Amino acid sequence: MRIRVLTLFPELIMETVQTSILGRALEAGLLDVRAVNIRDYAFNKHHKVDDYPYGGGAGMLMQAEPVYLAYEAASKDLNKNTRVIYTTPQGKTFDQKMAAEFAREEDLVILCGHYEGIDERLLEEIVTDHVSIGDYVLTGGELPALIMIDAIARLIPGVLHNAESADTETFENNLLEYPQYSRPEVWHDKKVPDVLLSGHHENVEKWRHEQSVRRTLAARPDLFERYLSEK
Ligand code: SAM
Repeated sequence: MRIRVLTLFPELIMETVQTSILGRALEAGLLDVRAVNIRDYAFNKHHKVDDYPYGGGAGMLMQAEPVYLAYEAASKDLNKNTRVIYTTPQGKTFDQKMAAEFAREEDLVILCGHYEGIDERLLEEIVTDHVSIGDYVLTGGELPALIMIDAIARLIPGVLHNAESADTETFENNLLEYPQYSRPEVWHDKKVPDVLLSGHHENVEKWRHEQSVRRTLAARPDLFERYLSEK
């Protein structure tokens, strides 16, 4: 999968994606992430890409043209009709289902805003998906972009090894994952539940499912409703 990120902070994107599991995916060629610096497409010698908003008001706005030129350069080698995600607190909230949907794409462009955002005409011209990572306002779109890339990339076949499988995880089937334990058997007088030491596979599965249900009901009753209606 090819992902192009339009940003004012390319180092932040590239340093993060080169780490850990995503770094391994880049090296294996399963993922190709490139960050394009919007400032390189500024049309003034100070590489300024923001200006005052018409009508007044606080803050500055990213101008349409440098973002458009960066988009054109970044998407040159991508498929036609590649989805362009704008990270914005006004978008649809990102979730596991959306991550799975984006993971099925061959190419993606992610646009990171700054200041008060970006000239609306540019958004109308290139953006296909407005996506938020939650109901709070951040200073820029890089952290949301990285969160999305991380969640999307680990669903690309081959990125996770078997031992890191995404199949039984939280949000699969609308349930939170069960509690897990590793060695030692006793830690701070707390013992690992007997059933997990029993070697009885069926009982272990039954216990894990019960725990998932119990947790979801307690922590995320909204998700539990969805579990009941979609199961
Ligand atoms: N003035 C904008 C508004 O009220 O909708 C907020 C701009 S915010 C300070 C600057 C940039 O950070 C946005 O353009 C967006 O790219 C990014 N951003 C902030 N919060 C976000 C969120 N919850 N999800 C995704 N992107 C966000």
